[in-house]
Amino acid sequence: MFKALLLEEADGKQSASVKNLTTADLPEGEVLVKVQYSSLNYKDGLAVTGLGKIIRSFPMVPGIDLVGTVEESSDSRYQPGMAVVLTGWGVGEQYWGGFSQYARLKADWLVPLPEGMTAVRSMEVGTAGLTAMLCVLALEEGGVKPESGPVVVSGAAGGVGSIAVLLLARLGYQVAAITGRPETADYLKKLGATEIVTRESMAEPSRPLEKQRWAGAVDTVGDTILARIIAETNYGGTVTACGLAASFKLPATVMPFILRNVRLQGVDSVSCPYERRCQAWQRLQALLPEDMAADVTNLIGLEQVPDYAQRIVQGQVRGRVVVDLQR
Ligand code: NDP
Repeated sequence: MFKALLLEEADGKQSASVKNLTTADLPEGEVLVKVQYSSLNYKDGLAVTGLGKIIRSFPMVPGIDLVGTVEESSDSRYQPGMAVVLTGWGVGEQYWGGFSQYARLKADWLVPLPEGMTAVRSMEVGTAGLTAMLCVLALEEGGVKPESGPVVVSGAAGGVGSIAVLLLARLGYQVAAITGRPETADYLKKLGATEIVTRESMAEPSRPLEKQRWAGAVDTVGDTILARIIAETNYGGTVTACGLAASFKLPATVMPFILRNVRLQGVDSVSCPYERRCQAWQRLQALLPEDMAADVTNLIGLEQVPDYAQRIVQGQVRGRVVVDLQR
């Protein structure tokens, strides 16, 4: 018997509760993993609360991230005892996920835990950190250098935003952090932000072109904030868009693209190819400071997931939430 958070639906209403399951209850897959940690992302918040149409078939074990050790494997790439990480691929959405002490998964979804990285660190990173790293890689590929000028990060006190601020600061960029929570200013400065920008000042609808302020951007929120960032981006700058915490809308014009050569680069972590994932994980391992956890991480047990799911969708979580499955 092991514990898992199970989402069920009855009379059109969704419920979430910790249940006892056996490995016979798990879906098919090549690799059985004993899960050590998972993490709670915004998407998990939407799934667990039912506020977003993330889950389409029930019962479902949510949790889009997990790290653990291989127990059984019919795939030659993975042997019992190997430490593996999973993010994305629809796990925790269409396939049973990480809020469970055991998970049975497709071998193609896994990556080996990067050498030197602890299991808990990989979930402090999780989908949010991987996405932040993919945004930073895209900025580098767009030619944005530390000397190019400030890089702006929206939703800065959230999971993706916090790690983006940290990574950019570690790489020597000047980082402007947009937040709707002024009380997080000290936290963001500790992560390396050099400027705090209020959400209100950025949420004002912008003109097609505004005064140039940013060499690059990591946007996690969309809508008028993303539109304003694009309108304020320097000639030749790159804006990465990975999130929709405000909304999926983009009330922008083409003017920054055709007059300022601005590049808008979408970033997806869910179906990111294996080689790119491994590259991002290696960079994360090299860049993140040893003592990141004390600032960024909230460590919780499985029973606390529904409560934290409410908090994350209400924008009340600071940094990352790691779920300890062996508690
Ligand atoms: P979090 O909830 O941890 O962070 C989101 C942050 O956005 C909040 O902390 C808040 O930051 C800000 N925010 C919340 N509501 C609003 C609002 N109405 N208007 C403006 N800002 C708002 O979520 P994650 O960091 O896990 O995810 C961020 C986004 O990125 C989500 O939309 C998520 O779905 C997406 N995502 C996409 C991925 C991909 O592969 N493309 C992968 C991972 C996440 P503050 O308090 O500082 O203002």
